[in-house]
Amino acid sequence: MLRLVLLGPPGSGKGTQAARLAEMTGASHISTGDVLRAEVAAGTDLGRRVAGYQADGALVPDDIILALALPLVTAADRGFVLDGFPRSLAQARSLDQQLPPASKIAQVVLLTVPEGVLLGRMRERAHQLHRADDTDEVFRRRLQVYEAETPAMTEFYAAAGVLSQVDGEGAPDQVFGRIRAALEL
Ligand code: AMP
Repeated sequence: MLRLVLLGPPGSGKGTQAARLAEMTGASHISTGDVLRAEVAAGTDLGRRVAGYQADGALVPDDIILALALPLVTAADRGFVLDGFPRSLAQARSLDQQLPPASKIAQVVLLTVPEGVLLGRMRERAHQLHRADDTDEVFRRRLQVYEAETPAMTEFYAAAGVLSQVDGEGAPDQVFGRIRAALEL
């Protein structure tokens, strides 16, 4: 059963690849970004609390994220692919401490994509999906947050012996093939 975290910068294809992995294996695709966007769109209390962070490309506070994500992860009885969570060492540690042993993270894939490619993909997505945070300025901030928060988290997973790096450049099919090879799926 897949118990996987997909890591990668904004625009690295995490969402696309997580959806494909979930479809192939029957695991749940858990995207904290999607859940938060749905809350914002529905105008819920939670949505109102997080909208500003999302629009600015800043991280939503850990207590909100953990309260939202942990129940989804523990309920995923056919495995899970985490997309956009955890996003910091603190979140990774909390997840590790709070998951029951049967749900512990078994594998982590880090998608690597050069910055110039990311920017191009984001602009394409801005045309297709009209995401509020797909502007050059917010994108740059999201990339900065990613670069500040990710190394400590990848060290944590590398030390646990669960981290693989996969080249995320190229067509979605190609990248999917590389991920499958890394996971021996
Ligand atoms: P994403 O769709 O994963 O790119 O997330 C979009 C935005 O949602 C981020 O820029 C954050 O504002 C927020 N967000 C999503 N996941 C998290 C998380 N794990 N921790 C903090 N903020 C998050």
